Amino acid sequence: MDIYFQNTLTRKKEKFIPINTEEIRMYSCGPTVYKDATIGNMRTNIFQDVLRRVLKYNNYKIKHVMNITDVGHLVSDGDEGEDKMIKSAKEMHKSPLEIAKYYTELFFKDLELLNIEKPEIICKATDYIQDMLEYVEKLVEKGFAYETSTAIYFDVSKLDKYPILTNIDVENQKAGARVEVDKEKRNPYDFALWIKAPENHLMKWDSPWGKSYPGWHIECSAMSRKHLGEQFDIHTGGIDLVPTHHENEIAQSKGMCGKIPANYWLHGEYLLINGGKMSKSLGNVYLLKDIIERGYDPLVYKLFSYSCHYRNKLNFTWEGIDAAAKSLERLRNSYKINLNGNDELTDIELKKLAKIEEKFHEAINDDLNMPLAMSFVWELARFEKKSPEVAKLLLKFDTVLGVKIDKEDDNTLNIPQDIQELVNKRKIARENKDWAKSDELRDIIISKGYKIKDTKDGMEITK
Ligand code: AMP
Ligand code: ZN
Repeated sequence: MDIYFQNTLTRKKEKFIPINTEEIRMYSCGPTVYKDATIGNMRTNIFQDVLRRVLKYNNYKIKHVMNITDVGHLVSDGDEGEDKMIKSAKEMHKSPLEIAKYYTELFFKDLELLNIEKPEIICKATDYIQDMLEYVEKLVEKGFAYETSTAIYFDVSKLDKYPILTNIDVENQKAGARVEVDKEKRNPYDFALWIKAPENHLMKWDSPWGKSYPGWHIECSAMSRKHLGEQFDIHTGGIDLVPTHHENEIAQSKGMCGKIPANYWLHGEYLLINGGKMSKSLGNVYLLKDIIERGYDPLVYKLFSYSCHYRNKLNFTWEGIDAAAKSLERLRNSYKINLNGNDELTDIELKKLAKIEEKFHEAINDDLNMPLAMSFVWELARFEKKSPEVAKLLLKFDTVLGVKIDKEDDNTLNIPQDIQELVNKRKIARENKDWAKSDELRDIIISKGYKIKDTKDGMEITK
């Protein structure tokens, strides 16, 4: 079945034609590891995970590369401001590499909690300094870059077209539309490839231009070229990367080899909080651990994100999370009931299952339309007959959803340690027929916001 992607490069939904059907090569811009990853960042990672899973559902092998920015991302998206890594390191009284290591580990922990597959290749910018330097030297040699007293800049006027992804009219931009810090820049949109380090700068390397460090965009060009070649299939990232980072990655690559590095550019939209931006000043920055601390299985957030197409803004609310928690519980229950079901399926019913499978496949292949795909997941979960055939298909769909439909514990709550201990004590009290103790423990559990129900299969705990 054909796959279609909305391509930011062409502004069209296009049929996906791989360069080499043996292996799809893709690159995703990874995190800048100087702060906690938010649930907004995780939305972008979930979208990229779905993309991987959809390609695999279509029997493709993939080689997916993701970078870790542990150097050189300035405070603003222009070339001005302090390095984010260094700023955070100073604030936390740690070295930049300690900061990077700490946040990289947290980032991967979140990916694991969200059952997000790890890309085949993960590359840290600081391990590729030499490749980046060689890239910049080549650009200088080819006349696409020039030196000023502070940096090596890419000269966008040397390209046949800049920008490509966006419609900004570079020529007629009002003077002062972007803050100019380096008067030696030839064009306002020229961007730094390499930056000469001030005396007290923490992260710097030897280069033909003295002690210096990379600009933000060069790492992705150097690392994608190294691992995926001059041209690969898919490049992904968050929507905010389009006008700066990705535009400049394309510029670098065109300077280097005259080619746009990827054929399909896919961008995920933002997660909003109560209809607005997530920001520290509004006190509404949520991390995955906030969701877990409220007692939810982290995969509830993943299921929640499927309520919206990746190219649309998604509004986060706790009511939405609550509804997704109930949905996840229902899905897992349906799986379990079907697994143990013994209804015979008629030919007509088997055909109905095949139709649901086809519709699901069409939806995911249509630019990862997860809200539509979910409607077929529900049609299946509510199928009139209960049979292992239905369970098998649910499990197949879960290779795309990645929400662990077959998780043994169908309770989508993560029970905190203290509650679990009380539950265990109560179990022992009941085994000893100490009913007074059992009731007393149940009351304590209730006072902590959890309900406990004794069923023939054991205890059921809800929040
Ligand atoms: P940052 O670490 O802030 O540079 O963000 C890393 C990536 O996460 C960026 O490329 C963004 O596209 C993405 N991102 C940041 N905030 C959000 C958000 N609220 N919703 C979706 N993606 C986001
Ligand atoms: Zn990048």
